[in-house]
Amino acid sequence: MKPVLRNLLFESFPATDRGELSAAGREVKLHVGQTLQGSQHRIADVYFPITACLSLHARSPEGGPEVMMVGFEGALGAQLALGVAAQPLAATVESPGIALRVSAADFCRQLDGSSALRDALDAYLDVMIQQVSISCGCLHAHQVGERLARRLLMSHDRARRHEFHVTHEFLAKVLGVRRAGVSTAATQLQREGFISYQRGEMHVLDRRGLQGASCSCYASSRNAYARGMRNFEPPGAP
Ligand SMILES: [Zn+2]
Repeated sequence: MKPVLRNLLFESFPATDRGELSAAGREVKLHVGQTLQGSQHRIADVYFPITACLSLHARSPEGGPEVMMVGFEGALGAQLALGVAAQPLAATVESPGIALRVSAADFCRQLDGSSALRDALDAYLDVMIQQVSISCGCLHAHQVGERLARRLLMSHDRARRHEFHVTHEFLAKVLGVRRAGVSTAATQLQREGFISYQRGEMHVLDRRGLQGASCSCYASSRNAYARGMRNFEPPGAP
């Protein structure tokens, strides 16, 4: 996979809006475990991850399974386009890296003058709603092993490389299951030859095999992005 150092949602904006937002914003380094937004807190900034990856939870980062990821395909704080001031989901940094940060005030000022920018955000918000719906269904309908395979594929897509750091403890938290359950499922995936895992370093060896082990939610999720975002490029090799 070749590295793509950009944000796909941001690139779907008109050139004028991109220029204004780039000038108003700043590239910032995000650190693993950093909390960017508490649930129901006022949206202070909009983040467009470039190399960082965020995990969004319905409740506090300490509890409640993940309902969505945001990487280089999306943004945190897009709800400002709906006229709401509070972020409904808590957001923490899963993978460290760079993001473009724009203050809510600058972002709203740009939104007020650009219907095309609003249209692009509406399309993304529709995809977000679909992602949350898929995750909720997945949580209740599918087994730990297939959910783990799906989650590893989601990380693989956003990492844009075959190796990435992730711990069983973190995976247990985002999947809303016990750590022992993750370890058992990961051991099975390793035995199948789909992944190798050692001391927090995950290596995807057989992406196609991992897709076969995943529930159908992974394909549903990718299809929702492909339908809703015109410049969406499936980041991982199918
Ligand atoms: Zn599922």
